[in-house]
Amino acid sequence: MAEQWIYLDGQFVTKDNAKISVYDHGFLYGDGIFEGIRIYNGNIFKCKEHLDRLYDSAKSIMLNIPLTYQEMEDALVETLRRNELRDGYIRLVVSRGAGNLGLDPNRCPKASVIIIAEQLAIYSEEAYKTGLKTVSVSTKRNIPDALNPKIKSLNYLNNILVKIQSNLSGAGEAIMLNSQGYVTEGSGDNIFIVKNGVITTPPCYLGALEGITRQAIIDICHEKGYKLKEEPFTLHDVYVADEVFLTGTAAEVIAVREVDGRIIGEGHAGPITLKLLEEFRSIVDKDGLKVW
Ligand code: PMP
Repeated sequence: MAEQWIYLDGQFVTKDNAKISVYDHGFLYGDGIFEGIRIYNGNIFKCKEHLDRLYDSAKSIMLNIPLTYQEMEDALVETLRRNELRDGYIRLVVSRGAGNLGLDPNRCPKASVIIIAEQLAIYSEEAYKTGLKTVSVSTKRNIPDALNPKIKSLNYLNNILVKIQSNLSGAGEAIMLNSQGYVTEGSGDNIFIVKNGVITTPPCYLGALEGITRQAIIDICHEKGYKLKEEPFTLHDVYVADEVFLTGTAAEVIAVREVDGRIIGEGHAGPITLKLLEEFRSIVDKDGLKVW
């Protein structure tokens, strides 16, 4: 197998040599931010949107990214070229960098930038037709006025607790509610429901990441004339929906066939979900930054 090259603070190192300090505050405190990005047929899908979210997250947490926007774009492109990757997943991490054992970020003189690019397929093609079994979990979404969901932070403990609960129930994904009982998102994806032809997704202020895939689906809905609403809804609305689907960079657009033992629609991917997946897949190698 060809060597995998990882971008680490301006150098390209092999996977075995890609190491950071145990004093890095990303490791010690989850102090940092990240992006998950896809490359499809040589095109970095929604590259600008991902970098905008990264730099906005950095600004919000007062993290000084040691690369300009253009340098970051160049580093992404170079990582893909080095790995000869035309189709795959990119994990871009900016951690606060090495400091001391205290949590003060002022003790971390320089942020670390890491770019990992590799092949990825989280779900089989079959799963896009059958849909996922999901459960709602008792772990609530972090409240937005504690940690704003617009920040894509390295601190995923909330989501990991959700994943643990979902694993224990034998489900493929979990649905997180906020403390008022409104549906927010999955452990790593946004959620949409379809009822009588109307597609609804929760507003992000309830406690959901402003997903790039979520926005791509909203744009497709507007363009293709689907009725789309951003409105709060509850688990009841999920149970009685005709279709439910999740969106995310890794998951793309994937149907949910079951929620808490309730079968959704016909118990497999519905027509609107499949149509939106098709529309989504028709733009992924066009909309973004061409590398190859
Ligand atoms: N919500 C959470 C909690 C996520 O981690 C992600 C990304 N994996 C998403 C939603 C989907 O966001 P995007 O479409 O930008 O990947």
